[in-house]
Amino acid sequence: MGAGIKLENVVTPSWMQLGLPLVTWRRTACPQKQIFLTFDDGPTPELTPQILELLKRYDAKATFFCVGENVAQNRDQLAAIVEGGHLVGNHGYSHLNGWKTRTKPYVDDVLRCQEVLGDVLGHAPRYFRPPYGRITLNQIFQLRRTFEVVLWDILSMDYRQELTGPQVAKNVTGNVKSGSIVLLHDSKLAAERVIVALPVILEYLSASGFQMCGLDQ
Ligand SMILES: [Zn+2]
Repeated sequence: MGAGIKLENVVTPSWMQLGLPLVTWRRTACPQKQIFLTFDDGPTPELTPQILELLKRYDAKATFFCVGENVAQNRDQLAAIVEGGHLVGNHGYSHLNGWKTRTKPYVDDVLRCQEVLGDVLGHAPRYFRPPYGRITLNQIFQLRRTFEVVLWDILSMDYRQELTGPQVAKNVTGNVKSGSIVLLHDSKLAAERVIVALPVILEYLSASGFQMCGLDQ
């Protein structure tokens, strides 16, 4: 994956998914109707508790790709994620852009996050998501020794300020299929839209008979 592959589509094009099979875009073999909701960039005291509450209401499990810096400041929130039965993944310690960072410092930053997470969790996460979806092939090769590198096939675009909550919900409900990995955020930046969109998404998915699972399910 070099500069030029930009993940800016609501649905990741299949040529891109097929072109880079070293990372996980979606779960292709799902025995049941399953959707994998993922929340990046937390935990945050502003949003993570509300998201956990909503997920609980729908008996939904999700994966939280946490930023080390945020975990260091919000260890209680990370503990609450685990208590809720959700999965925790690594999203780097300081949310580096892989295209702008050499491999060694990039990998070191991921391992630093792994330490903070391991401290709270008592085990080391197996899933890593590159910040901004920007990672070089060399970085993927290094990290694949330890992690499953996970991107997404459905981008909610909840971080886009020009969109409304209902539009973000539609991006997801209009495009998911069984096995989809959906990118959302539990960050302040996305708060306004996520808090409106998530109940709509959860209502739609549960009414459509989908099970919402952590990536390890
Ligand atoms: Zn991120």
